[in-house]
Amino acid sequence: MSHDTLFSHDRRAQWWAAATVPGVCLTGRRMCLDSMLHYDLHTHTFHSDGTLSPTDLVMRARQSGVDVLAVTDHDSTSGLGEAQVAAQVAAIVLVPGVEISVIWDSHTLHIVGLGIDPGEPTLQAGLAGHLRFRDWRAEEIGHRLERQGIHGATEGARARARGTLVGRTHFARHLAAEGHVRDTREAFAKYLSRGKPGYVPGQWAGLREAVGWIHAAGGQAVIAHPARYRFTATRMRRLLAEFRESGGEAIEVVCGSHSPDDWRHYALLAGHYGLLASCGSDYHGPEAPWMDLGRLPPLPDSCRPLWGAWGYDGPGAGAGAPPAAGAGESG
Ligand code: AMP
Ligand code: MN
Ligand code: MN
Ligand code: MN
Repeated sequence: MSHDTLFSHDRRAQWWAAATVPGVCLTGRRMCLDSMLHYDLHTHTFHSDGTLSPTDLVMRARQSGVDVLAVTDHDSTSGLGEAQVAAQVAAIVLVPGVEISVIWDSHTLHIVGLGIDPGEPTLQAGLAGHLRFRDWRAEEIGHRLERQGIHGATEGARARARGTLVGRTHFARHLAAEGHVRDTREAFAKYLSRGKPGYVPGQWAGLREAVGWIHAAGGQAVIAHPARYRFTATRMRRLLAEFRESGGEAIEVVCGSHSPDDWRHYALLAGHYGLLASCGSDYHGPEAPWMDLGRLPPLPDSCRPLWGAWGYDGPGAGAGAPPAAGAGESG
């Protein structure tokens, strides 16, 4: 069912006018968010490994009935300036975000930061280190694929990266386009996943460190797609306890890669660990139609939504002034 059938444009416009002023995002504002609003708090643009521009992503979100959209590119905030402008035109609320790669217990995790000030120096210094590692890793993946008889992969991946950031997805798209594999899924399975010949271990921030960057930027930290890590129950409990202890706020309960069983399971775990619940599609573009924007169901009733707290203090309470226009542009 389209969200527009539930929610009149007038009401949305009224809420928007009350909640924001032109040029200003949610950060640090007092507002009353309606629980009927449709949230998607995890999406990508071509500033990381998505395929849409920030403007096209925002327009598509608007058409899909999303009222509150977070743009959360991997290790980069460079798409947020354009996304803010587009969100004003589309009359949806843009939550500035980022998805930070993290090493925890020798595993790569993803921590989403929401309501961040993209101009904050601690966060930007941390992300700059990740971008430098990604640059080096792109060369290293190329050398390793070279040994498998695949030539020019780094150049091919770089040519497919439209932002400043090269990721494994760009390698996967290149390998598929050149016929080395049938599709990107096979590229990961054969070459790019952990234990495969093109895999380079991540040198990312620690969990506590990444949560610290997000908090320094006035944001809230969310464990992305927890079921994807395939941890044992004991290890997941250890992660949740450590995340909570580091000051992390929420976990994604409803997300593009979770099954209905996962929604129930992580709703229970969130309650048990006193964590808030978030929801996000992890949309990367129309090439993956099974994971579209605006299609996720509401959070289970037992969950305390992350945005419930925004009704009183806004994401990043105490973050001070909202980001200046253009603050999202980083190198
Ligand atoms: P990176 O951060 O560059 O190491 O790449 C991680 C990204 O690769 C994830 O965010 C996904 O978009 C993508 N990815 C990881 N594993 C797979 C997989 N098995 N199949 C397809 N895409 C994947
Ligand atoms: Mn990705
Ligand atoms: Mn992720
Ligand atoms: Mn993601």
